[in-house]
Amino acid sequence: MELLRNAVRPYAWGSRTTIPELLGRPVPAPHPEAELWMGAHPGDPSYIVAPDGTERSLLELVDSDPAGQLGDRCARRWGGRLPFLLKVLAAEEPLSMQAHPSAEQAAEGHAREEKAGIPRDAPNRNYPDPTAKPELVCALTEFHALAGFREPSRTVALLRAIETPALAKYTSLLDAQPDPDGLRALFTTWITLPQATLDELLPEVLDACVLHVKEHGEFDTECRTILELGEAHPRDAGVLAALLLNRLTLRAGEAIYLPAGNLHLYLHGTAVEILANSDNILRCGLTPKHVDVPELLRVVDFGCGEMPVLCGEPGPHGAVYRTNAPEFELSRLEWAAGDRTELDVDCAGPQILLCTEGTLMAGASDGQEVKLERGQSMWLAASDPAVRLRPVGAGRSQVFRATAGTCD
Ligand SMILES: [Zn+2]
Repeated sequence: MELLRNAVRPYAWGSRTTIPELLGRPVPAPHPEAELWMGAHPGDPSYIVAPDGTERSLLELVDSDPAGQLGDRCARRWGGRLPFLLKVLAAEEPLSMQAHPSAEQAAEGHAREEKAGIPRDAPNRNYPDPTAKPELVCALTEFHALAGFREPSRTVALLRAIETPALAKYTSLLDAQPDPDGLRALFTTWITLPQATLDELLPEVLDACVLHVKEHGEFDTECRTILELGEAHPRDAGVLAALLLNRLTLRAGEAIYLPAGNLHLYLHGTAVEILANSDNILRCGLTPKHVDVPELLRVVDFGCGEMPVLCGEPGPHGAVYRTNAPEFELSRLEWAAGDRTELDVDCAGPQILLCTEGTLMAGASDGQEVKLERGQSMWLAASDPAVRLRPVGAGRSQVFRATAGTCD
């Protein structure tokens, strides 16, 4: 049971206030702070902070004692690696449009790029890791995203509602085949349009969206999002692709699960994200980062329909967000102001606890006590004694608990 010091990733889309404020540092920060990484990813591992202030990399600790840190079963199942990575996402501006590979695609892509001799940290490396990257994002504030392909008949309705002549032939294409194959055809057409065609089409589409918003049309939110993306990336085919995705607004505590192949784009807001310990990202646009459309087309799942919004299954003092990802499980633990109920956290495997509100004392059965304040996180090894959490602050308390998955 030890506190963690975690890496902050300074991507340009990050907020200058959210993560520094959570960590109790001065705001605004001099640079955007996009993601806080809690885990043992080789690209940016967390550090275990001993009571005397000395630090040790969690990656090194897990590597040196996989059975003790992860437990026998987890160490065997995941080859001695911590299978999950926990993050806080602070999106001030939209991220790139992306999808992640399945376990098979990741293993094949990783081997292919290793063989080709592309350095793991090269900008054009698609598969730095040999593993899949399912992810679950749980809103801390109102969180906005595009995720999964919308039911094609609804997309046809949207394209008809913004009604511009340049779009007519594409609308007919989808209307003639309102299914995953039709979506694949239209998405592939749009994402590979010659720049000259895009430069004519996009301004017309954006003008049509402006008109739709002015007239308070049915797809007002969708059109505003297209305008926001079009303003930032006026010549990017990803703006058209965004017309095909579900537009979601998550309230605090609501989550979405993004399995392999799900095309998504986070727009803005703060969230806790849990994902497999992998950084395999295939991007198709809306970013200055490496874009690889042919590779993305190999992994995208054109299945369609509304994205299920998960509120979590009620558990002791909170909710568990169940998915079919074997790598992780996320729970939210909550105490109302004044509630001092103690909660036992069993230690069957590796765990990270992140406090997002209030202050708690974590007491181990061997007598050790560690204070966990807002913004702090804690590593519990499989071999650690059982831990009891007790809120000690005046207001409400909230802790996110990350463990390995329980579904296999
Ligand atoms: Zn993603």
